[in-house]
Amino acid sequence: MKEIYRAYKYRIYPNKAQKELINKTFGCCRFVYNFCRAEQKKQEDMWQLVKEMQQQGYCFNDYKSKFFNRFENIKFITELKKTYTWLKEVDNTALQSSVENLAKAYDKYYKKQGGKPKFKSKKNPVQSYITKYNKTNSGGTIRVIGNYIRVAKVGSLKFRDKSRPMGQIVNAVISKENNKYYISLNCKNVLVQEFEKTNKNIGIDLGICDFAILSNGIKISNKKFYENQEENLDRLQRQLSRKQIGSNRWRKAKIKVGKLQTHIANQRKDFLQKLTTNIVKQFDTICIEDLEVSKMKETDKNGRNKRISDLGFYEFRRQLQYKCEWYGKILSVINRYYPSSQICNCCGHRSGKKDETIREWICENCGTKLDRDTNASINILKEGLRMLTV
Ligand SMILES: [Zn+2]
Repeated sequence: MKEIYRAYKYRIYPNKAQKELINKTFGCCRFVYNFCRAEQKKQEDMWQLVKEMQQQGYCFNDYKSKFFNRFENIKFITELKKTYTWLKEVDNTALQSSVENLAKAYDKYYKKQGGKPKFKSKKNPVQSYITKYNKTNSGGTIRVIGNYIRVAKVGSLKFRDKSRPMGQIVNAVISKENNKYYISLNCKNVLVQEFEKTNKNIGIDLGICDFAILSNGIKISNKKFYENQEENLDRLQRQLSRKQIGSNRWRKAKIKVGKLQTHIANQRKDFLQKLTTNIVKQFDTICIEDLEVSKMKETDKNGRNKRISDLGFYEFRRQLQYKCEWYGKILSVINRYYPSSQICNCCGHRSGKKDETIREWICENCGTKLDRDTNASINILKEGLRMLTV
């Protein structure tokens, strides 16, 4: 048994009053976020102004704006509530989380890992807020009771019962996507049973024609979720473009587009979930290449870009990573510059770069007939296992 972090996402069915309060909370979080962002912007602008004046010789004073301070800004919420009393009506931990998110964005920006935090827009199709778990005498601010999830301020929300959340709830994200409401419970100390060891290892080569090629010769074909729905999606988008922006018909058409996009995304997620669970169950060590998807997009000349974004390589890798950790298996990621498609898996002879169109060849050194993809996945397996021993 092992303890892990895990999120459980459920669709929820708030009543009218609850919907109103949830939407109000989205708005209040956005307000606090944008307010703090604007305050910081004033300082940044002032700094810029002083710099310019110094350059032109008008000003000799030194001025530097302060870095965004998490704690000061969280304290600032109390001040804001005095002026904007309606902020008191919503979940305070949500307002705090909103400021914390802004602080995180600033941290990234200061470390040059991201751009300046953007103002939040009402028009964003996904709205959300985080409510924190706090201990109370009656069992905590977020609780699951029967078919309901109880959260602070909003009260009991009906949810569709799939698997029950396990472990200890840390916080919950309440969101609205295409007019549907969801809750995601983030839990810690969730116990999982590790998968049994099989004493089998596998190398996986990710492709374009096939989704993945395994070193045992199995090819997993690419499910074309996007292409299958492309016509439908185009049709809906054309309908949307003919409507007057902001009108009722426009809003309805927009929801239809969003629904289909979510449907495609869900199909892909489902496919990847089943695939990765299967792989992690069957094999002890799983070796993959560290793929740079952006590069593959560039080299693709035949209008296959859509398909590449459809492939979900990143999602595939992300799922393998956490599932290996959950279920006690090993993921070995090899360097993306390793020439897996140039080496003969039989004798190790390296025969140079080959055009994408060459699907099979005979090794000039040992005479083995090599299938491009299977050969690459066997090399990935070998290299992945070798890396674990160094
Ligand atoms: Zn050879």
